[in-house]
Amino acid sequence: MQSDSDKPNAFSNALEQLRIAAEYLKLEDGIHQMLAHPKREITVSLPVRMDGGDTRVFTGYRVQYSDARGPCKGGIRYHPNVSLDEVKALAAWMTWKCSIADIPFGGAKGGIICDPKHMSMGEQERMTRRYTAAIADFIGPYRDVPAPDVYTNAQVMAWIVDTYSALKGYMVPEVVTGKPVPLGGSLGRDKATGRGAVFCTIEAAKVKNMDLKKTTFAVEGFGNAGSNYAEIMQSNGATLVGASDSKGGVIDKKGMDASKLIAYKEKTGSVVGFPGSQPATDKEVLQVEADVVCPAALENTITPDVAKGIRAKIITECANGPTTPESDKIIDGNGIFLIPDVLANSGGVIVSYLEWVQNLDRVRWTEEEVNSKLEQKITGAFGDVHSTSQKNGTSMRTAALMVGVGRVADAIRTLGVFP
Ligand code: NAD
Repeated sequence: MQSDSDKPNAFSNALEQLRIAAEYLKLEDGIHQMLAHPKREITVSLPVRMDGGDTRVFTGYRVQYSDARGPCKGGIRYHPNVSLDEVKALAAWMTWKCSIADIPFGGAKGGIICDPKHMSMGEQERMTRRYTAAIADFIGPYRDVPAPDVYTNAQVMAWIVDTYSALKGYMVPEVVTGKPVPLGGSLGRDKATGRGAVFCTIEAAKVKNMDLKKTTFAVEGFGNAGSNYAEIMQSNGATLVGASDSKGGVIDKKGMDASKLIAYKEKTGSVVGFPGSQPATDKEVLQVEADVVCPAALENTITPDVAKGIRAKIITECANGPTTPESDKIIDGNGIFLIPDVLANSGGVIVSYLEWVQNLDRVRWTEEEVNSKLEQKITGAFGDVHSTSQKNGTSMRTAALMVGVGRVADAIRTLGVFP
């Protein structure tokens, strides 16, 4: 088993990516240094009354990486493996992601070291409220706007709104995004990540001269992002030939109905055993003969061994960090068009931004309006990254970092250094 000390340090990876972008951009050393340090790191101790009557103290973090382009923005993760370095890395990636999407936000991330699978709703609620109170002076609609991440959801966001509003004395729904729709959540937010990834795939297909209606695709990780991606790809005429989840995978070269597969997984808990399909491993799904493959599960699933056998022409990274740096080189060498995570999965934060705008303006847009604004934003971002990659002869991943880091550097340069 891999011990924690063997795991690649996420923040070191983020700093190495920054170093590469800084080299291409010929960044001044001072600005490079500023971008390598989070603006603010907050650590809080959270005493929580447990159901059994005892009190436990949890550790929580909020890292505000940069607000040079606007209020900080980023999710809150509840997981036993949360660490300050992981939160710092995720906050840096959020900074570049918001910048690539050209939305007026900086980057942040938060987390609590806990195991929500073994906590009651009451314990989670008390922990969330205590965390909110502990960071209340540092968040706010114009300061830092949290959102859900791994093992947090719309309900957790509702507790944050209620606690923050109670402390302020008036309702402030715009303090977070990813809220339940009746509390001011945006229509279209639940499918935004998958939909945004499809818009990116449509653009990549144009670059590769492929007709989406004739393409086949496979999805690794048939969860929220992956299953929505599959259903929306299908509504654009593409055919699903492979899918996997944590219990296994399925392949059917004749094609599977994505909506029926979603209903089947809801009923049985897995895609495994879908009528008409053949069983497959996760690796076989990633390497199936398909035009597009979408990793939408966890980090580091495309190892060099997997990358060597990928036959797709396009890889759409719905997951954060699915491809290891070694695999990147193999994929690049094989001429596969990779849409990097900071671009491919930015639909979620783009619609979070649209939620924030609707809340501040006290307006509500229809789902069609939200989807059309998402399309405009994400295809614009794709165009910026693609033209940067063409101009500099780099991969889409390096180009995305150049765009993201470059815009934050420009903002810092223009703002100047205080005092
Ligand atoms: P989810 O929990 O809904 O789905 C994850 C899926 O991956 C599940 O079906 C799970 O069974 C499957 N899975 C887990 N281990 C696997 C394995 N070893 N092999 C194959 N499948 C496996 O989570 P999600 O919200 O869809 O997030 C998936 C990825 O997308 C994550 O990397 C997340 O950070 C990223 N992402 C999600 C959003 C969003 O809005 N949901 C936004 C940005 C990025």
